[in-house]
Amino acid sequence: MAFAFQQNSGQRLFLVAHPAIFWHYDSYRKGQVRCTYEIIPENTPCKIYFDLEYDIRVNTPRVPVKIVNSFIVIVSNYLFHYFNLRVDKSNVLILDSSTDVKFSCHLIYQCKEAIFRDNINVGRFVRQVCAGIREVISDPRVIDVNPELWRGVTHAEICELLVCGRKDGEKLFCDESVYSKNRHFRLYRSTKLGKNAPLLLSDFNVYTPVEDTSQEKLFLDSLITCIGEVPAIPLQFGCQKEVCFRGETANRKISTISEVSVSHCVLEKFVTELISPCGRIRKRTVTSTPKGQRIQFDIQDYRFCAKVGRHHRSNNIYIVLDGSRGTWYQKCHDPDCIGFQSVERQLPPEVSFIIEKEDPDLEREDVSLWECSSVSDEIFVEFGTFGDYGGVSDKGTTLGDCEKGDVPEFGIGDNDLLFAATKC
Ligand SMILES: [Zn+2]
Repeated sequence: MAFAFQQNSGQRLFLVAHPAIFWHYDSYRKGQVRCTYEIIPENTPCKIYFDLEYDIRVNTPRVPVKIVNSFIVIVSNYLFHYFNLRVDKSNVLILDSSTDVKFSCHLIYQCKEAIFRDNINVGRFVRQVCAGIREVISDPRVIDVNPELWRGVTHAEICELLVCGRKDGEKLFCDESVYSKNRHFRLYRSTKLGKNAPLLLSDFNVYTPVEDTSQEKLFLDSLITCIGEVPAIPLQFGCQKEVCFRGETANRKISTISEVSVSHCVLEKFVTELISPCGRIRKRTVTSTPKGQRIQFDIQDYRFCAKVGRHHRSNNIYIVLDGSRGTWYQKCHDPDCIGFQSVERQLPPEVSFIIEKEDPDLEREDVSLWECSSVSDEIFVEFGTFGDYGGVSDKGTTLGDCEKGDVPEFGIGDNDLLFAATKC
C-alpha cells in the first residue's frame, strides 16, 4: 500500500509498504508529528468511508452521537435499498479528531460485502445519499416517495445534518469531495500538520474488531483499501462510462514535458469530477505567486453557477484552485455575477500539494507557465514516486488551448438573453 506523510518542513514523502510494517514504524512517531495519509489509488477496491465535519462556532449546538447515528441509519437504509445489504452501527469504525471549534469524524465501514469497485463508485453512492437528504430537508413529502430510505429517522433529525459553513451558507456535514482519485485520507492516530488533533477512536464507536482489539488491528481496519479478500464482484454505483476522463481524450495535444503531466492529470481530474459528467475544461490560466499557484479552469458544457443556483443559459463559469489558500471556488463570466465567488472549499491534499509550492521567483502571470515551469517538474518527482507504485495514471497528455470547441462568452446576462429571446 502507498502512504503519504508530511514532515515538519511541510515536505511530503511517499512510501510503499506493507501496512503492518508501516504501522510498526509509524506508531513510534510522536503524536503531533504524525501527519500520515493513506493514498487511495484509483481502480482499487475499497471500503465505504465518510468524512463528517462542521464548524462548532457557527452552528447551534448539536449532539454529535445523535447526528452521526442518524446519518448511519440513512446510509444503512440506502445500502439495503440499492444492494440488499444489512449494515448497522456495529459495522462502522468511527474515528474522531474533534476539537473545541470543529467537529470532525471519519466513518469506515467494516463489512465484507460492502466493498466498492473503487472510491469513485463510493463517491457516486455517497452523492446519491446526500442528494436524497437535501431533497428531504427541503421538502418532507419526499419521504413518502421512498419511505424505506428514511426508516428510523425523523424529518427533524434529518434536518440536523444540515450545518452552516464558516463563510458560506448551509451544507451537509458530510464532505462529498473526498472521493477523488488518489485521494489522501488521514490515518488512525494521525493529525493534520500543526494541529495536534489526532484521529482517535470515537467515544461513540461501538465497532470491535473480530479477532483482537489491538491498536494495530484497529489501524488495519481503519485503512480504506486494506480489505483482505476482495469480493468477486465489488459493488458499483451509477454510470460506469469513463465520462470522468472525457477531458483527456478530446482536444488535447501531447505535452513535450511528460514530467509535468502527472501533476496536470491530478488537477484536471479533480476539476473534471466537479463538473462531470458533461462539463469539460476548455482553458487553464496559471498565476504564480510566492505562496503558490492560482489556476483558473474555464469550463464549457457545464454552467452551474452557485450565485443563481442553476445553470446559466449562455455564459460560462470557471473554477479557481488557489494554492496559497489550499482552496477552490467557482466564479462566473455572466455579467450579472461579476464579483461573485462561491464558497471556498478545501482542496484535497493530493491537489493542494501540487500548487501550494512556495517560490519567491515566481510572481508573474503567464497562461502557458505550466508547460515550461521547472517548479512543477520538481513537484512531480515526489508524485512520481507513488506513480510508479501504480497510484497515478500518467496518460502523457495535457490540455491544449482548445482550438476546437471553444465557446464564446456571450457577454450578456441570463435575464437580458431571455428578454432578447422573447423579442425574437
Ligand atoms: Zn453566474
